[in-house]
Amino acid sequence: MTAAAGNLKVDGARLWTSLMDMAEIGPGVAGGNNRQTLTDADGEGRALFARWCEAAGLTMGVDAMGTMFATRPGTDEAALPIYVGSHLDTQPTGGRFDGVLGVLAGLEVIRTLNDLDIRTKHPIVVTNWANEEGARFAPAMLASGVFAGVIDLEHAYSRSDADGLTYGAELERIGWKGDEEVGARRMHAYYELHIEQGPILEAEDVDIGVVTHCQGLWWLEFTLEGREAHTGSTPMAMRVNAGLAIGRILESVQRIAMEEQPDAVAGVGQARFFPNSRNVLPGKVVFTVDLRTPDAEKLARMRYRIETEAAAICEGLGVGCAVEAVGHFEPVTFDEALVGNVRAAAEELCYSHCNIVSGAGHDACWAAQVAPATMIFCPCKDGVSHNEAEEITPEWAEKGTNVLLHAVLKSAEVVV
Ligand SMILES: [Zn+2]
Repeated sequence: MTAAAGNLKVDGARLWTSLMDMAEIGPGVAGGNNRQTLTDADGEGRALFARWCEAAGLTMGVDAMGTMFATRPGTDEAALPIYVGSHLDTQPTGGRFDGVLGVLAGLEVIRTLNDLDIRTKHPIVVTNWANEEGARFAPAMLASGVFAGVIDLEHAYSRSDADGLTYGAELERIGWKGDEEVGARRMHAYYELHIEQGPILEAEDVDIGVVTHCQGLWWLEFTLEGREAHTGSTPMAMRVNAGLAIGRILESVQRIAMEEQPDAVAGVGQARFFPNSRNVLPGKVVFTVDLRTPDAEKLARMRYRIETEAAAICEGLGVGCAVEAVGHFEPVTFDEALVGNVRAAAEELCYSHCNIVSGAGHDACWAAQVAPATMIFCPCKDGVSHNEAEEITPEWAEKGTNVLLHAVLKSAEVVV
């Protein structure tokens, strides 16, 4: 068997056709997709995927969170499966490839093995995680979080959308509440191919991102208490100006992130002024700092520095300052052996590659809590994602899927 040689390839045209067929379901308004989780469109997308899996001879299992697991048996009944996959749900104004590529690339790996009649010792399971995006039901990566035991099942069911509909009720309504216990499956390995969702690979003209880590993050919500006062008649020296405090804190967040280079980012994307009137100094300002790095020690230090400097700035201005941590992920270090398999696969295929850190959260980050896991990135145009304009080339998709194929075969062990 020459599976280790670079001549074994997937059918890139077939993969692309499947991607375009899936994109027909839940079209967006600007060429992308709106196939949010547990909507009718999600149900249609699932049904199409299930039909494809059946045609490829796979056996479908569905767990109680609605995650789909399509299994190709191995030759050794005792061997734990290799899982590949990602998510078919999208943002409300999402792209055609975020998540979808990882699921359909998994299916293309299976189709290729079927075509060439290649058997593996370990079973291979193509996975469609439910509610990765978290746009309709927060938080993101909900089903994989329950699978990994970090989110409670009943809590997940109780999550509600903007119309007050719950995850549990909507899962039953679309008919995809399975009977499998969530998290009962054991994995020999988990591989996820995903578009980078950032600009690095394209800018560097690199085919494959070998993902070594996933960033940890803190979302820190600051509430600054100033004193509402007339902007015209209050002398400068007599102001308790929460608006000035946030200005200084933003500078400090920027400086701290720059001082913690490399591999650190921090910024503020959301701020609310109260009462938000042009001639009233704000009595209150609420904003969120989003800080991320793959280094656990640095993550803790950045949080400490930002909180300490913000407190000092506020104290100097007589402004009250309270902080609440409203979101947190520890950094993830992906499995060294699996990362090595991805790198070796790229080498064998003669594709350019580099190590990369995932800036976004992924199902693989939760899978890594319970199994050896890693990810493969392919470039996306201008780094644009979570946007209907998201774009990749058929060649990028094909190369990423070829790396997935070869990495999976290293774990799944080809039977000669
Ligand atoms: Zn995604």
